Amino acid sequence: MFNPEWVNHRGLLVEKQAYTEIQELLMAKREELANRLERIKGNLIGGHSADAQEQAQELENAEVADALGNEARLELSKIARALEQIKNDTYGTCVSCEEEIPSERLKAYPFADRCIRCATAEEIRTAG
Ligand SMILES: [Zn+2]
Repeated sequence: MFNPEWVNHRGLLVEKQAYTEIQELLMAKREELANRLERIKGNLIGGHSADAQEQAQELENAEVADALGNEARLELSKIARALEQIKNDTYGTCVSCEEEIPSERLKAYPFADRCIRCATAEEIRTAG
């Protein structure tokens, strides 16, 4: 069955179905990271503060002390953003040229917000 919504403005077939796969991948990754953060938190924080703000502060300190925690938290925020974009139907669109990012690229780099062409241009630009 052919769905005209699968074709973008350049007439290329867009695999909307692939986002479901990416979404599942992201959600699995999110759970894995949440578990990892729990373990890091458990390792670095001995007791539990009653105050939620103190707990948050302790967690923050612990994460600053632990590069792994920082990395996991950063990735979690990227995952949250990507999932939000999938929900809002803005996922997979290049932020520079607003064209669809090929799903093959998204599967390899689920957090990519630029198409290969724009990402390459950006790299050249920032490299000076
Ligand atoms: Zn682009």
